[in-house]
This record gives sequence, C-alpha cells and structure tokens, in this order.
Amino acid sequence: MTRTTHTCICGAVLEFRQDLRKESGTVSPTWKCTDCGTPVPGIVAEKISHQHPS
Ligand SMILES: [Zn+2]
Repeated sequence: MTRTTHTCICGAVLEFRQDLRKESGTVSPTWKCTDCGTPVPGIVAEKISHQHPS
C-alpha cells in the first residue's frame, strides 16, 4: 500500500492522522499542520487522514 506524506513549510513531515489538525469549514473541513497551522492541500490531507501508525 502506498503511503502519502507531505512536508510542511515548517519542515514537519506529515504522515498520519495525528499530524493533522482538522478544522470544520462551511463546505469542507480544512486540514492544518499541528506544528505551525499551515493549511495542507485537501487531496493530500484526505489521504494522510486515513493513515494511522500500526
Ligand atoms: Zn507545519
């Protein structure tokens, strides 16, 4: 299974659901880096949000 990662501008590597902070939006939720709060592109964030360490 392919794993999606996203490197934030702050240098944090976002790989799992816990690396993202979900903020409810009017249309769709916004995902942000837990470290710095920079928004993560939705398509990437959706994939990461389904990834859990195991
Ligand atoms: Zn960040």
